[in-house]
Amino acid sequence: MTLFTTVKSLNDALLSFLKSGEIGFVPTMGALHEGHLSLVSKSLAENDCTVVSIFVNPTQFNNPTDLEKYPRTLRADVDLLQTLNGNIFIFAPNAEDIYQKDVISKHYNFGGLENEMEGKHRKGHFDGVGTVLNLLFRIVKPTKAYFGEKDFQQLQIVKKMVSLEKLPVNIIGCEIIREKSGLALSSRNKRLNSTEKKAAILISQSLKLVKKEFSNHSISELTNMVAKNFESEKILKLEYFEIADIETLKTATKKDEDKNYRAFIAAFAGEVRLIDNMAL
Ligand code: AMP
Repeated sequence: MTLFTTVKSLNDALLSFLKSGEIGFVPTMGALHEGHLSLVSKSLAENDCTVVSIFVNPTQFNNPTDLEKYPRTLRADVDLLQTLNGNIFIFAPNAEDIYQKDVISKHYNFGGLENEMEGKHRKGHFDGVGTVLNLLFRIVKPTKAYFGEKDFQQLQIVKKMVSLEKLPVNIIGCEIIREKSGLALSSRNKRLNSTEKKAAILISQSLKLVKKEFSNHSISELTNMVAKNFESEKILKLEYFEIADIETLKTATKKDEDKNYRAFIAAFAGEVRLIDNMAL
């Protein structure tokens, strides 16, 4: 395993794999946990080498405090990746390496995907995500890139960006890794105190309840159930609960037999914003 901090050094190391071999890619913002490792393991199993990028991308943060407080733990990240066997190249560049000149986003039209859920609450977020991944894909030139369903909207946006930019990369969605309690693993969990972490379990519990009751109740009944759940837990503040069509991500108001749905939640535990979702 080697750590690269410049595009040039990474490109030199990847040259032989580009000629003959398959490069897998796992883009991350660091503060790695078992969720990230599951993506890396899948990539290692399916490719000749795996690039793991660790880059806290400034253009996808709409909230400067969130950017400032985002955990940065490069040494621990390297140690964690070292527990995996395989050909791992860690790429931890700085913003100038990636963006070259101005650290700004390109403006994308993701066909409406960008206007739902996270897009409504985090203005410009998906332009930042699309921009940095387009740049990273052009540097790494992977055959396959791995993304968690934890950020399901992001996964759909990345697929759309790749088709808009005509990039020759296969986007692979990977299941959400959770703690025993059901809490989805997230780098942001590191910022939760023990009371907030305990309260945050309600997020996945609510999603599980919706999954269980999906066939027995209307969408508005399910929405009310979740709202009530959150009213009883003062440490959490529900930002949104939505049941959405997995293709368009548009909010569902009634169930259509021909469509597939997921339930999505964003909530604050104290100052920390958490998201989760579940297939219905
Ligand atoms: P991040 O570092 O938060 O940008 O995440 C990097 C990648 O890891 C994204 O594709 C995430 O969706 C994925 N990821 C984060 N948490 C989890 C999790 N609990 N299970 C599976 N994938 C995850």
